[in-house]
Amino acid sequence: MQHTDLYINGQWRPGSGAERFDVLNPADESVLASVASATPEDAIAAIDAAEAAFADWAGRSPRARAEVLRRAFELMTARLDAFARLITLENGKARADAMGEAAYAAEFFRWFAEEGVRAHGNLMPAPASGARILVHQKPAGIAVLVTPWNYPAAMGTRKIAPALAAGCPVVIKPASETPLTMLALMPLLEEAGVPPGVVNVLPSRSAGSLVDAMLHDPRVRVVSFTGSTEVGRKLLKGAADQVLKPAMELGGNAPLIVFEDADIDQAVEGAMQAKMRNLGEACTAANRFYVHESVLESFTERFTAAMAALKMGNGLEEGIDVGPLVNAETRDKVAAFVDDAVARGAELRLGGQRPNGPGFFYPPTVLARVPEDADCVADEIFGPVAAIQAFSDEAEVIAKANDTEYGLVAYVFTRDLGRGLRVSEQLEFGMVGLNRGLVSDPAAPFGGVKQSGLGREGGHEGLLEFMETQYISTAW
Ligand code: NAP
Repeated sequence: MQHTDLYINGQWRPGSGAERFDVLNPADESVLASVASATPEDAIAAIDAAEAAFADWAGRSPRARAEVLRRAFELMTARLDAFARLITLENGKARADAMGEAAYAAEFFRWFAEEGVRAHGNLMPAPASGARILVHQKPAGIAVLVTPWNYPAAMGTRKIAPALAAGCPVVIKPASETPLTMLALMPLLEEAGVPPGVVNVLPSRSAGSLVDAMLHDPRVRVVSFTGSTEVGRKLLKGAADQVLKPAMELGGNAPLIVFEDADIDQAVEGAMQAKMRNLGEACTAANRFYVHESVLESFTERFTAAMAALKMGNGLEEGIDVGPLVNAETRDKVAAFVDDAVARGAELRLGGQRPNGPGFFYPPTVLARVPEDADCVADEIFGPVAAIQAFSDEAEVIAKANDTEYGLVAYVFTRDLGRGLRVSEQLEFGMVGLNRGLVSDPAAPFGGVKQSGLGREGGHEGLLEFMETQYISTAW
């Protein structure tokens, strides 16, 4: 399955600068592949290809585009094992997480095959003039897509599928930690019937100059980014020069609130999903656990037992739940969060010791009674560490949960549905899991408020990110 060159106009090419970079296996630090590094000249070649492909692709009927996407869904679903293996090799996540990601990634092709034929418009009489207001949606134009390493397949397909459904060609820059999965998807898209130039892939070690060149090419109209808030801010600034249509899926700092009337078993199960899916390397990962004082001990005991039962090891092996983190920097950052919290008085209930190498492993860790000023309360942990705090009052916990620059997702556990909905409405987050630890669904609008981003992916909204509204004033 392994391709290591750039994919431009349906062809594999080494980069124009002839530079390459290594992709590592985080489980043993061995080199998996040497991948071509794209330059700004390659970026312009990819945009040339996208431009040449645009009219034909946008001119096809929505149904014709939908059938290509449907075939992509079927082909990917038939090859989940191979994609999952590659995801584990380059990202480290355990097999069950990788299979989950591959299936989730394929679902975006199915969903947008279905949604692409529903780019509704509107017709209404102008209230005063007697004219008609005719509103329709058009493909927005060439889209630049930039994706992170934590979901090497799904963060790409969540953008490629709606862009193609809308009629837009794309140039995608995958994360340099994990470019192999996206490259491996290209032969599948060819087989599904995606014409040359409609999807181009540019791995690169020079993300800044590569993406900047594309954001300043007048043929580009959309930039869709998933990654850190820090890089998102830079891309928004770059996008301002040409007033591009931005979609930004940025960082999170998810609160998980367990009220005293919660079903504790359900809360533990939801917390395990919200914390440990993708071993905590998810923008949706529960980062701050707020547990009512009266159930703090029973929740913490049961949750710690569930965390202790997880088996850490090479994600390719049977029975492993927790693979390595993606790289040494991420592992060291997680370790520093734990050390800081403990130094400030948090109780270490599980884990906290990093094993000897090789591999970037960090064990499932539980911290209880984490003080408010610990670094992990303000920042994304992005690893298998649960930081638990106690609270005693509903208004207090809502205020604490909202006290962050982020606003991606929050989780609430309570048996009282009225309370659950009342609290959910007051949470300043784009998504809420109410008695559920998992919100991601291709059919739902995924995205954040505040500094967690702009725009939505999935649902019907995801399609509109790649379309422009046109209004025609007419009369008859
Ligand atoms: P990142 O450092 O922001 O990188 C994301 C992508 O941006 C990579 O492809 C990276 O390329 C590229 N990049 C880096 N600097 C750039 C620049 N100056 N100009 C243009 N592109 C640049 O994020 P990450 O560490 O890969 O991913 C973790 C972050 O993503 C977390 O904050 C997480 O919350 C967020 N995330 C958000 C969502 C969501 O839907 N809201 C989903 C998943 C992850 P290189 O790899 O080559 O550096």
